[in-house]
Amino acid sequence: LAARLQGFGTTVFAEMSALAVATGSINLGQGFPDYPGPPEVLDVARNAIGTAADQYPPGPGIPELRSAIAEHQQRFSGLAYDPDTEVLVTAGATEALAAVMLALLEPGDEVVLLEPVYDSYSASVAMAGGVVRPVPLHPPAGGDGHWTFDPADLRAAVTPRTRLLLLNTPHNPTGTVLTADELAVLGKLAVAHDLLVVTDEVYEHLVFDGARHVSPATVPGLRERTLVVSSAGKTFNVTGWKVGWICGPAALVAAVRTAKQFLTYVNAGPFQPAVAAGLRLPDGYFTALARDLQGRRDVLVRGLRDAGLPVVSPEATYFATVDVRPVQPDGDGLAFCRSLPARAGLVAVPSGVFYTPEHAHLGRHLVRFAFSKGDGVLAEAVRRLVGMG
Ligand code: PMP
Ligand code: GLN
Repeated sequence: LAARLQGFGTTVFAEMSALAVATGSINLGQGFPDYPGPPEVLDVARNAIGTAADQYPPGPGIPELRSAIAEHQQRFSGLAYDPDTEVLVTAGATEALAAVMLALLEPGDEVVLLEPVYDSYSASVAMAGGVVRPVPLHPPAGGDGHWTFDPADLRAAVTPRTRLLLLNTPHNPTGTVLTADELAVLGKLAVAHDLLVVTDEVYEHLVFDGARHVSPATVPGLRERTLVVSSAGKTFNVTGWKVGWICGPAALVAAVRTAKQFLTYVNAGPFQPAVAAGLRLPDGYFTALARDLQGRRDVLVRGLRDAGLPVVSPEATYFATVDVRPVQPDGDGLAFCRSLPARAGLVAVPSGVFYTPEHAHLGRHLVRFAFSKGDGVLAEAVRRLVGMG
């Protein structure tokens, strides 16, 4: 393994999903739904197979999908993007993020991000020769809501080598949503230091009562320096389709397109018209998706509390984070996750993996549970939690 990938080993999602299969446990680790996407989206993909859609689509994505992405951005964040020059289709958000780093970072360039952080970010930055500068998010003191950062930590993370501010809202794994005030602080910093901004919004539609998703690209001064990344996986319950996209100023999108051409060249043909149909669904689809998931959140959060686990009820996403110390005296979240199949027939993800080594102590006792599961599975998971040995 090349030096730049030392320490990245196997992702925790692969390890924990394999553990779930090997032990027959309910998998609340890797975040994916166990219920299908909307039939009108699935039908388009089914009908596209066996047609010309099976052959190489255009590199930047089919025009119909790029137009649907631009319309979706206009509808939900009020921003206009030219589908021909300012939109790029990618193999999920994961390829989008990797292509962004490869396209924009010089070796040694620094990327400021909020930690805990989704695991592919640090690897993508490292593969491009960049360096991560983490700013910790702190959990709320009480049981609900919002994790936040200290603006002084943010300012201290910026150096003359900082090239890029990498944001994720709604945020995996904490389920927090950046507020208008936080975005203003982040926006001012980006403008003052002439930073590019990359914002991963794959959970943009999975937001619950009391919180509202605001795209960082809407902050004054940011549209022209921001690449918005999102994906169909979470919005249409099709995480295996791996269709994602980038919207941003033409020059930045052109740079990312150059990198993307030599990563995957093009992406899954039959899924592109299907995602286009999904992005054009009426508003009611998106609000029902969030309302439904909010009910699942409430079931799992109640179950975790009944099991004696302090939990932050998240504002958004698929995930709730618990402090395992009451049931794991050594406070080791990884050890807790490895013993959870035997203790309760469940699998979760240790949040420690979402921290850089220098901040590992902040996440050692935290564990992430996914609640994107059908009623029966979720009810059984709660029964097992409450009876945990
Ligand atoms: N970003 C975040 C924050 C995620 O949680 C995930 C997992 N879905 C991804 C990116 C990857 O998205 P995709 O499957 O579209 O590559
Ligand atoms: N984004 C999902 C999660 O955080 C899936 C991650 C993955 O499989 N790489 O669980």
